[in-house]
Amino acid sequence: MNFLSFIIIYFLIFFYSSELFSTEIKNIRYGSNAEVQRIVFDLTEDLTFKNQVSKKKIEIIFDKKVTVKSKLKKNSDLESIKYEGKTNTILLNFNTEVFSPNIYFLKKKNHKFSRLVIDYSINQKKKKIIIIDPGHGGKDSGAVGVNKTFEKNITLKVGILLKKEFKKNNDFEVILTRKKDIYLQLRERTKIAKDSNADIFISLHADSNRNRRTRGISLYTLSERASDKEAEALAKRENSSDFLANVDLSSESSEVTNILIDLTKRETLNQSSHLVNFLIKEFKDDMNLLKRAHRFAGFTVLKSLDIPSVLIEMGYLSNKDDAKLLISSGYQKKISENIVKAVKNYFNWVNKNNK
Ligand code: ZN
Repeated sequence: MNFLSFIIIYFLIFFYSSELFSTEIKNIRYGSNAEVQRIVFDLTEDLTFKNQVSKKKIEIIFDKKVTVKSKLKKNSDLESIKYEGKTNTILLNFNTEVFSPNIYFLKKKNHKFSRLVIDYSINQKKKKIIIIDPGHGGKDSGAVGVNKTFEKNITLKVGILLKKEFKKNNDFEVILTRKKDIYLQLRERTKIAKDSNADIFISLHADSNRNRRTRGISLYTLSERASDKEAEALAKRENSSDFLANVDLSSESSEVTNILIDLTKRETLNQSSHLVNFLIKEFKDDMNLLKRAHRFAGFTVLKSLDIPSVLIEMGYLSNKDDAKLLISSGYQKKISENIVKAVKNYFNWVNKNNK
C-alpha cells in the first residue's frame, strides 16, 4: 500500500466512522392480529429511548443519533412517519386515536437486529362484563359439608376472591350477584346479568353426594338432552314443578336444575361449551376433575338468556378431602386463578373467531 492510498483510506474511515458505528434503522415492519396492531423497527444496535404518547401521536426519542437510509414506509393507520435528526426522534402521527400503546425494546442478543416494538390498538377495548354468581345465600345454605361448613359461605368467599383476580386485568368489569349473605331468587340473579349486558355468567357452587367418596370439580351447561338417565328423570320432575316457589335443599341436583333453567338459549350453548373446555384445560393440570367433568343437564328452557353460562361445582362438601380443600384459601385462590386464565383464553378465542 503506498502512502497516498493509506491517506485516502484513513480519511474514508475518519469521515464514515460516525456512520459506521452509529445505529441504523434497517427496516420497519407492520403486523396485526385481532387485538393488537404492531410496528417493529429493526435496528443494528441496542440503544435506549424515551417515548411520549398523546392521542394521535407517538414520539420515540433515542438517546443518540440513529441513521435512516431509506424512507420509512407507513401503514394505513399512519398519517405520517418521519425521523427528526436534530432531536433523534421518530414521529408517528396516526389517523385516529391509539389505545393502550405498549412500547418496548428487544435486545439484539443472538438475533440479527435489535427491535423496537410499538403495540397499540385503534379500537378502544370494551371491557368484558363478567357476572359471578355465588350460589345460595341467606336462608338457603346450600349443601352442608362433612366439616359442617355451608356451601353458601364457600361460594361467597370464592366469588369475592375471583372478582379480585379478575380486577388484576384491566379488561374485565366484574359484577357479583351477591356480596353478602343474602337470599336471592334465581330470577334476580339472571336479571342482574341481563340488565348489565353481561358477556359471561359464572355460577359458583359446591356439590354433595350420598357417596362420600365422590370428589372433584364438575362443570354444567344446559342441554336439550341430559347426560344420563338419572339427570333426565330429574329434569322431568323439576320441569313440572314450580321451581321458583321455593328452593329445594334436600336434593343436590335440584339446585343445578334451578340455576340452569334460566340460563341459556340454544345458540349460546356452544359458547358455553367452549368456555367449559377452556376451564377444563386450566383445571386438569393441578386440580381434581370429576370423570366426564363437563355435564349437561337436560331441562326445558323456561326462560332464555343469551349469555354463555356455566355452573361450576368446585368440589364435594360430602367428601372429607374436598371439604377440606374448599375451605382452604390456597385452593380458593388456585381455582380463582384458573378461572381467570380460562376466561381470558376463551375471549381470545372468541375474538379470533369473530374477525
Ligand atoms: Zn349449590
